[in-house]
Amino acid sequence: MGFCSRCHQKKPKDRWKWCEACRKRQRLAAQQWRLVHPEESKVYQREWYRAVRAEVLAHCGKGCACCGEQTFEFLTIDHIDGGGRDHRDEVGKRGTEFLRWLRKNGYPKGYQVLCYNCNMARGYWKVCPHQSR
Ligand SMILES: [Zn+2]
Ligand SMILES: [Zn+2]
Ligand SMILES: [Zn+2]
Repeated sequence: MGFCSRCHQKKPKDRWKWCEACRKRQRLAAQQWRLVHPEESKVYQREWYRAVRAEVLAHCGKGCACCGEQTFEFLTIDHIDGGGRDHRDEVGKRGTEFLRWLRKNGYPKGYQVLCYNCNMARGYWKVCPHQSR
């Protein structure tokens, strides 16, 4: 048995600090807030995304492994063995979910940073034109 750190009621021992009722209430409140503040919510999401991206890039490499592009906004995380898309499907996550997954799993090896150009080119043409020149 544990205690909810919000309402101090008894709760089963699990990975959550709050009991289920409190988490549900919080989720609804957050949903409500997003409805009432769509603009702030977008800014907030973008800031969160930027922070997580910065953290992931700090672990996986600060520039494109192919062309060296370092512009933050252009960079993506790619699975080194190719088939990045397949692997993401395997992991079942995309976008922010994928970043969350990487972070939660302690940045597993086998990922590299690529810019969107190189990533797209590899996905479509198998080899980035940077490499075949
Ligand atoms: Zn509670
Ligand atoms: Zn590149
Ligand atoms: Zn390239």
